[in-house]
Amino acid sequence: MATTEKNYSICEVGTFADLADKEINDMKGRVMLGGQLGLTGCEVSINSVKAGKSSPFLHAHKLNEELYMIMRGKGMFHVDGEEFPIREGSMIRVAPQGVRAIKADENLLYICIQANKGSLVQATMEDGVLSENKASWMK
Ligand code: ZN
Repeated sequence: MATTEKNYSICEVGTFADLADKEINDMKGRVMLGGQLGLTGCEVSINSVKAGKSSPFLHAHKLNEELYMIMRGKGMFHVDGEEFPIREGSMIRVAPQGVRAIKADENLLYICIQANKGSLVQATMEDGVLSENKASWMK
């Protein structure tokens, strides 16, 4: 469990090469970061699916939209009966009620971010605050 006394938390999930075979908290090939990092506005998972494997079921959500970020590999994505190819660089947003599943044709590595639909009230440019302080590598 990461510390929450400071203004950051960090955890190490290890290299991704063997993630598909790792079983973490009863889930094979998936690391959930929310609990480990104390995330409060979203849930994030890192997922590895071996070629030829897929989600065992279709699912939707009650409140959360999901962003699937395909980092490596190729496969297919299913939403509401529509199916389309995905590959490294594919970014898929699915509304909460979208009924979805993912399949790996080549070993897939993807990040899934869940956040409450409509909860974002500002983004980087409106929310960022520049600091006068400097990191050790800044001149
Ligand atoms: Zn989901």
